[in-house]
Amino acid sequence: MVTDKGPPRKKNLVKNESIKNVKNLDASLLQATLESTADGILVVNGKGKIVTCNQRFRKMWRIPLSYMKSSNDEKAINHVLKQLLNPEVFIEKLGQLYAHPEMDCFDEIEFLDGRIFERYSIPQYINNEIIGRVFSFRDVTRRKQMEEQLFLQATCDPLTGLPNRILLRDRINQEIKHAKRQHSKVAVLFFDLDRFKLINDSLGHNIGDLLLQEVSQRLKKCIREEDTLARWGGDEFIIVLRNIDYREQIIPLITECQEILAESFYIDHHSITMTSSVGVSFYPMDGKSTTVLLKNADAAMYTAKADGRNNYRFYTPHMNDQAVEHLSFANDLRKALDDNEFFLLYQPLIDLKTQRIVSAEALIRWSHPIRGLVSPLDFIHVAEETGIIQFIGEWVLKTACEQNKLWQKKGLGPIKVAVNVSGIQFKQNNIVQIVSSALSDSGLEAKYLDVELTESSIMGNNHIYIATMNELKKMGVGLVIDDFGTGYSNLGYLKRFPVNKIKIDKSFVRDISRDEDDKAIVQAIIAMAQQLKLRVVAEGVENKEQLDFLQTHNCDEVQGYYFSPPIKSEEFGELLLNQKNKSFIEPLSEAEFNILHVEKD
Ligand code: C2E
Ligand code: CA
Ligand code: CA
Repeated sequence: MVTDKGPPRKKNLVKNESIKNVKNLDASLLQATLESTADGILVVNGKGKIVTCNQRFRKMWRIPLSYMKSSNDEKAINHVLKQLLNPEVFIEKLGQLYAHPEMDCFDEIEFLDGRIFERYSIPQYINNEIIGRVFSFRDVTRRKQMEEQLFLQATCDPLTGLPNRILLRDRINQEIKHAKRQHSKVAVLFFDLDRFKLINDSLGHNIGDLLLQEVSQRLKKCIREEDTLARWGGDEFIIVLRNIDYREQIIPLITECQEILAESFYIDHHSITMTSSVGVSFYPMDGKSTTVLLKNADAAMYTAKADGRNNYRFYTPHMNDQAVEHLSFANDLRKALDDNEFFLLYQPLIDLKTQRIVSAEALIRWSHPIRGLVSPLDFIHVAEETGIIQFIGEWVLKTACEQNKLWQKKGLGPIKVAVNVSGIQFKQNNIVQIVSSALSDSGLEAKYLDVELTESSIMGNNHIYIATMNELKKMGVGLVIDDFGTGYSNLGYLKRFPVNKIKIDKSFVRDISRDEDDKAIVQAIIAMAQQLKLRVVAEGVENKEQLDFLQTHNCDEVQGYYFSPPIKSEEFGELLLNQKNKSFIEPLSEAEFNILHVEKD
């Protein structure tokens, strides 16, 4: 049946339908918009009750669908809280937003499982009236992880995982601020491993790296959680200690660190012993800024090293002068080759059977315009530390070979020339090349050159050094173990090394006429050398008793002030000429000896 009211009703119906349709359209558009964003969206009313949310929100917060369908807000919120690292902070923030509905908020939420969400929230208005709030959550876990990784890369030392220089500076800055507030002191300890370079060069960088890792582990054990241990670079570590009341308070810690580092390290079948030198500066007494504190701790460390290593020093103002001096010494040394400040002296080695000079040991001297004559004992180690030894060593080899060739050309030879080669230089892979150039450039035959190496310099990466020695031997160059008895004193290794000669260290020769132990040692070394068919030399022979003892026990060669100190090449030429004419070398007179002795000691 069609009534009058029909059409209008129909009209209304259509209108209502279309309003409903428009509303549905709005709602579906809204929902589609909500669902299309990558963020989790939640809308709550003025009472904090959930009005709507998108699927992403539910998934991000891992809320079961049933909770949402049943509008069980309490269950949902409890579920959320259980996942958070700091639920109290979360609740507190919600409280704040409830109390201040007009507030915007932007912060981060951390989860127990490591996820991190960014939360952005703004009030929802209708006609200037707040009717609720919209939250949007973004999962930034990956971005945060990458940021953290970048931060670690920029602030941590990759080898040890310790803070690097950048982070260390930041930590010291913080400690200074803290100490200012607390009226306390900060200690900056500068650790440097003694002779690490030697270990690194002899055992290889891999072992050096493992050693540094182990060192960092050991040092970590000595400090409190609130202190900082950082790697400054190379073999240098820094410890920063907070809440220090007086200087002496830190001595037990330094001792503990030094003792723990002195215990043997066992790395890849090598037993390595190690000492360390430590310099300390204190805030505020030794510096008010990070830079000054570090610089002064470094200067104190340098003094500890110069005072014989394996100890510690607290900074005092004059130490900077010493550090500056060390730098200028190294700079002068660098220039010395170009400025022709080095020269060689030669000391004869005498064969005891024939009483003839059979060899000349080349000994370097540095004549500096202001410093005067500098002993190799004072500069070789600096040259080794700075790498300059490579150039000095090359010059010594070349000059000594040329000199020996010159004596031969003058008809004074032939004798050998013995050149000291530093362990650092020996381990450079071009040593064979350098020796061979020195020989070919000078025209000296290889059999007239001896290379002197100390025991410690050929220990370690044995097979490489043995290969180098074999190459030198194949060329015809003689190999001498210098300062024998002072290093490892492991006679077994001698069999494996292709050496020709051993040189008994002068410390054993010195007391040979008085000390029964030294007598026994020298006798034993000679006997062993004879068994291994090696020539044996005693160095540092200063008097007749020593000579007699050595002669009686069949030592092959001697060297020392008793015959001649190291002398200039011209004087040495005269000795050779003298020998040529008279067939033997005369010992020094008593008076000559005394002059030498006083000068030398
Ligand atoms: P070394 O190789 O053991 O050299 C022997 C040292 O003993 C020399 O000291 C020599 O002057 C000294 N000497 C000689 N006879 C006697 C003596 O009768 N009594 C005493 N007490 N000493 C004596 P020097 O010339 O001061 O050299 C010291 C060290 O410096 C050398 O010890 C060597 O290790 C190093 N050295 C010297 N020249 C060179 C060089 O050209 N290259 C390298 N790498 N090292 C060098
Ligand atoms: Ca020597
Ligand atoms: Ca020696």
